[in-house]
Amino acid sequence: MRGWYGSLDIDILRVCVSRVLQQHRLAPMRSALLNPLFAPVTALPGIGPQLGRLLERAAGPLVVDLLWHLPVGLVDRRAAPPIGALNPRDWPDAIVTVKARVERHQPGFGRRPYRVVLSDGTGILTLIYFSVKGDYLERLLPIGAERVISGHVEYYGSAPQIAHPDYVVPPDQAGQVKAIEPVYPLTAGLSSRIAARAANAALERAPELPEWLDPALQARRRWPGWKEAIAAVHAPQSDADLIPTTAVRERLAYDEILASQLAVALVRARRRRRPGRVLVGTGKLQTPAEAGFGFALTGAQRQALAEIAGDMKAPHRMMRLLQGDVGSGKTVVALIAMLIAVESGGQAALMAPTEVLARQHHQVLTRLAAPAGVEIGLLTGREKGRARDSMLASLASGLTPIVVGTHALVQPDVAFRDLAVAVIDEQHRFGVEQRLALTAKGHDSDTLLMSATPIPRTLMMTAYGDLDVSRLVEKPPGRRPVDTRTVPLDRAEEVTGAIARALSRGAKVFWVCPMVEDSETADIAAAEERYRALAALLPDRVGLVHGRMKGADKDRAMAAFADGPVDLLVATTVIEVGIDVPAATVMVVEHAERFGLAQLHQLRGRIGRGGDASTCLLLYQPPLGEVARQRLQILRDTEDGFRIAEEDLRLRGGGEVLGRGGGEVLGTRQSGLPVLRLADLAQHAELIAVAHDDARLVLERDPQLASPRGAALRTLLYLFRRDEAVQYLRAG
Ligand code: ADP
Ligand code: MG
Repeated sequence: MRGWYGSLDIDILRVCVSRVLQQHRLAPMRSALLNPLFAPVTALPGIGPQLGRLLERAAGPLVVDLLWHLPVGLVDRRAAPPIGALNPRDWPDAIVTVKARVERHQPGFGRRPYRVVLSDGTGILTLIYFSVKGDYLERLLPIGAERVISGHVEYYGSAPQIAHPDYVVPPDQAGQVKAIEPVYPLTAGLSSRIAARAANAALERAPELPEWLDPALQARRRWPGWKEAIAAVHAPQSDADLIPTTAVRERLAYDEILASQLAVALVRARRRRRPGRVLVGTGKLQTPAEAGFGFALTGAQRQALAEIAGDMKAPHRMMRLLQGDVGSGKTVVALIAMLIAVESGGQAALMAPTEVLARQHHQVLTRLAAPAGVEIGLLTGREKGRARDSMLASLASGLTPIVVGTHALVQPDVAFRDLAVAVIDEQHRFGVEQRLALTAKGHDSDTLLMSATPIPRTLMMTAYGDLDVSRLVEKPPGRRPVDTRTVPLDRAEEVTGAIARALSRGAKVFWVCPMVEDSETADIAAAEERYRALAALLPDRVGLVHGRMKGADKDRAMAAFADGPVDLLVATTVIEVGIDVPAATVMVVEHAERFGLAQLHQLRGRIGRGGDASTCLLLYQPPLGEVARQRLQILRDTEDGFRIAEEDLRLRGGGEVLGRGGGEVLGTRQSGLPVLRLADLAQHAELIAVAHDDARLVLERDPQLASPRGAALRTLLYLFRRDEAVQYLRAG
């Protein structure tokens, strides 16, 4: 998956939750009030298995899913001009409802459509039907009968026509023609009218529910009650009712956000009640190590360390996410956390997503930990045979206090004498099970997750609300800003010239190849082609790395670039994570407009790591759309990853980040994140913060949700299928 934010971390939670549930074997007890909403859609009148399948695909399997399936538009059929008034100037592109008498039929033949001509005394209207049986139309529109017709009027010259009208009914059934009809997001085979009928049937089943909102908040925002809101949202009266910030839509969005915030707050509260280890450092290792760093920790690093040390010392399990841009100094912080674990008598492990990264970490940590006299072990898929056996023995006996590795660390035969802290670098690159598996190799071990992906605050609260978070916002001193420029692809000649000049000055250059839609094979083909072209220009000085290369080959290519003869490295996005080559001062990204902003930001983090001025050239295919232009502009303007993430969310809109399809998906079911259906992370950002505080405050005052509002909040949790969270109230 090409996620920007990768698959986020709620999945860890999910697994924890399902494990806890298995342990307690408690069946969720949903309030009986909600039963009608939790029936399958086929329980609704008029919805059989076939329609049920379509509705399930469009909305979901349950009645409640139909309620959450909100209209995205409306059709206003109130315009009812006399036919004589219909002309392209006054009624262009309009939906109209007219009453007229059927004058005659003109059956079609060949490619000519079937026509039915009507008149209301002021003018003539022609209905057009393609491939519709004549006898059906004769029954629908008998000559001489009056009919109410509603549909989209078009003009042949100045003669009004309606092709395939939406409604054709006798005047005594004119009530069937809804003056204003909601329009639903559709699935092939499902018409909006049927979706609307299903939504209505679901609404009829909607019970009155106890109010879970804080009364003061509800009054201040003038939010309607739940039942009123859900009915109103399915009956928009104008386009203004469709915007996300109406009182009705905000209330429903808030309900959903509050359920999610309450659920994560419960998970967090429960975790904090679970026993953990008390790990107290003595400074015996930390002090000499720090003295050897050759730099002072930044304020942000100190702050993060204080938070981590506080968690380690406290008798609960640490589950903390350390977030910071590439180069913000997370590795050093992780090292100190691991040294504290060793000082208190335990072991520590750091797991990285790739072989290259694990080796690099091993090298760096070995150097940084040397003054403390601490040896760092290494365990990856490439340690085999005797070397592996001896590393395993040394971990099991406790001889090796700190180990760095890949997922090889979580293989079943790896055991620790006493793993106290598990550190997971680039945590989103791991599967859930792998992450948990490392921590599970210890007893009540603490976990430190690290991520170089800055995530907007609102997403953070939604996706990671249960985790404690430390952010490294300040960078180590002495970084020179990267000069970032955007260059149209048709000026690639200039780029080649600039690179040639840079190379002649002794600079090293990254050349990142474009992503091709969802195909690694195509990515690699493009990279190989670029490699051949550049290698022809610069014999023996061009290298290539891509994701399908074997570990050893990749390492060799990286090493040849880092301190060998290779000066220009053509790469697919495999260089995204970690790689540290201080001499690299130029980066070229082809088709930058195809990359996610966060991804470009991470790529750019590969340069500007040494003391020299660096340049990043973002090549794009003109013309750029307005949003694409603004996105690249942001990268030119700032190197603050958190700001980039916020701006990106704003520009893409929550809906897009939540990804209805496409690879850059945050909120999809696949990524394990709860899918927000009523709320929009960009539009309702402010509500997330309010709900976050609301949830924490409620649990402080009423940890078991025992008060009347507490009981209503339980119903809310069930309504949004947070049944697991409710379990925590009893399971403790
Ligand atoms: P990250 O893991 O967040 O990408 P690193 O820990 O690898 O960042 O740090 C990037 C570089 O900055 C490393 O070379 C590291 O030694 C250096 N560094 C870390 N902290 C500081 C600091 N406080 N002052 C100066 N340099 C630092
Ligand atoms: Mg790092």
